[in-house]
Amino acid sequence: AIPLVVAISTSVSAGKGLLIRNRTAFENARKITAMVFDKTGTLTRGDFGVSRYGSLSEAFSKEQVLAFAASLEQGSEHPIAEGIMKKAKEEKLNLHEVSQFEGLTGKGVQGEVHGESWKVVSPGYMEEKEISLPEKSRSDKAETIVYILKGDDLVGFVALADEVREDSLPAIKSLREAGMKVFMATGDNPQTAKAVSEELGLDDYYSEVLPDEKVKLIKKLQKEDYFVAMTGDGVNDAPALAQANVGIAVGSGTDVAAETADIILVNSNPKDIAQLVRFGRATYKKMI
Ligand code: ADP
Ligand code: MG
Repeated sequence: AIPLVVAISTSVSAGKGLLIRNRTAFENARKITAMVFDKTGTLTRGDFGVSRYGSLSEAFSKEQVLAFAASLEQGSEHPIAEGIMKKAKEEKLNLHEVSQFEGLTGKGVQGEVHGESWKVVSPGYMEEKEISLPEKSRSDKAETIVYILKGDDLVGFVALADEVREDSLPAIKSLREAGMKVFMATGDNPQTAKAVSEELGLDDYYSEVLPDEKVKLIKKLQKEDYFVAMTGDGVNDAPALAQANVGIAVGSGTDVAAETADIILVNSNPKDIAQLVRFGRATYKKMI
């Protein structure tokens, strides 16, 4: 049977913006010593706006490049996809029909248009394939940049900007005050990761991390005797949510993340996690 004090506390925390999917998670919350956050859509709003975009090919105008990118992104539920599609709509661009669509988790998307292969991919993917990047498509600012490839040819880029959630800074302060180490693991590029990490005063950050590498990071921390919580919103975070001692999904995120997690942040507010930990500690103190 569920001790009464826990039953009451669980329902109260649900009222505070947390949906607790199993009771063990609530018990475990007070034991957390390391908190790993995803960046995009978790510490940031995941509300990307296109800041600039361009063609890197004689064959296409920048609008044509954006139209191809938006066409491919129709198949994705990543915040980047939403930002690109919103821009294409504003510019009233006509989209192409895409076949053979495929998500390249943590790297981008690909598909065929008029029998030719197109991709929208990360800087990490470009590095991996050793495709060189012209200067104007690079960035030292906190921009997220994606590249558009036709076959293996680079034809353009789109730069997007996201905002840190206003509740992220107080949430992280509160977690650190409660004695936790706070880390960020993101698939995004090192510059953006560094900017966000510095803004939030994190203990450390990891960039260009693929989904299975997020799992490895959780395992590494667990080996170092941390009791690890992972908070994320994306399909790419699901394996790490499953590996963590406590998996927390952001309410505004994907269904896959929510189904894998132990706890859901209904209001997508990271401050509710700090609340949960304090609440868990107080509740179990009462029982002893
Ligand atoms: P995060 O861990 O910050 O949530 P992801 O692992 O989801 O990031 O994505 C990592 C990188 O992969 C993105 O920064 C982007 O470069 C690329 N990417 C992911 N999804 C898409 C997409 N739908 N379109 C274009 N690029 C994408
Ligand atoms: Mg994310």
